[in-house]
Amino acid sequence: MNEHDSERMKGMLETLGYAEVPEPDQADLILFNTCSIRESADSRFIAHLGHAKRHKRNNPDVLIGVGGCWAQSVKDEVFQRFPFVDVAFGPGQIHKLAEFLTSDSLTAQGFFEFEDFPAQLPTKRARDLHAWLQISVGCNMKCSYCIVPSTRGRESSRPFDGLVEEVTRLAADGVREVTLLGQNVNAYGRDLRPQRRTFAELLHAVDAVDGIERIRYTSPHPQDMKEDVVLAHRDLAGVCPHMHLPLQSGSSRILKAMRRTYSRERYLDRVALIREHVPDTSLTTDIIVGFPGETEEDFQQTLEVCEEVGYDSAFTFVFSPRRGTEAAEMTEGLVPHPVKIERMERLVEVVQRRATERAQRFVGRTLDVLVEGPSRNDPTKLRGRSPHNKVVNFTGVATPGDIVPVHITAATSQTLAGEASLLATASAR
Ligand code: SAH
Ligand code: SF4
Repeated sequence: MNEHDSERMKGMLETLGYAEVPEPDQADLILFNTCSIRESADSRFIAHLGHAKRHKRNNPDVLIGVGGCWAQSVKDEVFQRFPFVDVAFGPGQIHKLAEFLTSDSLTAQGFFEFEDFPAQLPTKRARDLHAWLQISVGCNMKCSYCIVPSTRGRESSRPFDGLVEEVTRLAADGVREVTLLGQNVNAYGRDLRPQRRTFAELLHAVDAVDGIERIRYTSPHPQDMKEDVVLAHRDLAGVCPHMHLPLQSGSSRILKAMRRTYSRERYLDRVALIREHVPDTSLTTDIIVGFPGETEEDFQQTLEVCEEVGYDSAFTFVFSPRRGTEAAEMTEGLVPHPVKIERMERLVEVVQRRATERAQRFVGRTLDVLVEGPSRNDPTKLRGRSPHNKVVNFTGVATPGDIVPVHITAATSQTLAGEASLLATASAR
C-alpha cells in the first residue's frame, strides 16, 4: 500500500513539474512517505529526517515534507518535534500536497482529515507491466496490535464502475498484471450505495477486461474468505493461483487476544476450502511471534499450522507494541526479547523447510512466466514470475512483458530455475 502511495506522490509531483534527482543533497524538495506498522520503520525514518535537517541548515530554501502513517499517528506534534518540517499529511491526504506546493504560504501546514475514497490521482508506475489498484481505504477491523485503523481511518470502498474503467485504461496503456489493494480486500463493496458490490464481483469484472492477464490481491481477511472468492480462483483465467492469507498465530487463545475474529479451526477450514477447489494454489501468510501472553504451547500451535498448511512463503514479524493500540497496554505474559528471537528462528526454519518441500511440485512442470528483465544474480539469465508468484530465473530469449512457457528444473524455498521451452525461444526471435 505504501509503495503505491509513493507512486501517487511521484505522479503528482511530476504533473507539478518536479523531477527526481539522484541524491537528496541536490533536491529542492525532500518528501518522505512513512510507515508506522512496526517500531523499526519509525526509527529508520527518524534517522533519515536527521539527514534532511542538516541539508536544510545549509540550504534554507529546501522544502521538507512528511506524508504517510507515521505523520498521521503524531499529527501536528510533528511540527513541535521537528520544526524544520514544512508540510505533513496522512495517507488519505496525498492530494493536499499539491495544494500546499502551489500555494504562496510559507507557514508549515498539516493535513490529517479522513475522507471517503479520495480523489483520483496521477500515478508514476514503478513497473510498466504491473499496476497497483487501490480498491478501498482504511480498515474496520480492530486487531489489538495494529496501528492501521488509527492511521488510515474507516473503511471506504472505491466505486465499482470507476475501478473497472481504470483497469480498462491501464490495459490500454500496456499493463498486463494488476494487484488489487486494500487492508481487507474481501470486505470490498459492502459500503457502496445504492448498489452493494462484492469482492468476487469485482474479480469477475476485472477478469473480463481485455489485456489483463493476471490479477492478484492483498490482503484478504480469513474471516471474510467466502466460497465465491475461492471459486473465482477456480473459474477465472486471470485470477492467479496464489492467495496471501494472513494467519498471525496458530493458537485460538492468542487469536482471540489479537481480536482476529477467527479460530485456528476456522482458519484451517478456509485453507481446506481453498485446497478443495484449487489444489495447486500457493498460500502465503503473515505471522507475528511474541504477542503478549504467547506461551511455548501457543507458539507450538503456530508451528503446527505452518507444518500442516505448508506455506509457499511467509512474512514473519516480531511483535512490536504500537502507540495507542490495545496490545501495547497489555502487561501480562510479556515475552522477553531473546525468547522472541529464538521463536522467530524456529519459525523461519519450519516455514523455509516446508516452502522448499512445496516448491518441488513445480519441478518438471512447464509454467507460464511473465518476463520482467535480466536475472539479478546472473545477467545471462532472465527473470520473471510464475502465476503462483514465484520468481523464476531461466535461460532463453524473451522480451519483458512476454509470457513464455518455462520448463522448471530446480526449486528452492524462494525461487525456481528453468529453461524457456524451445518453442517460446523460437517465437521470441
Ligand atoms: N491488513 C493486512 C495487514 C496489514 S499490516 C491484514 O490484516 O492482513 C501487515 C502485517 O504486519 C500484518 O499482517 C501483521 O502480521 C504485521 N503487523 C501489524 N502490526 C504489527 C505489530 N504491532 N507488530 C508486529 N507485526 C505487526
Ligand atoms: Fe490491521 Fe487487522 Fe486491519 Fe489488517 S485487518 S489492517 S491487521 S486492523
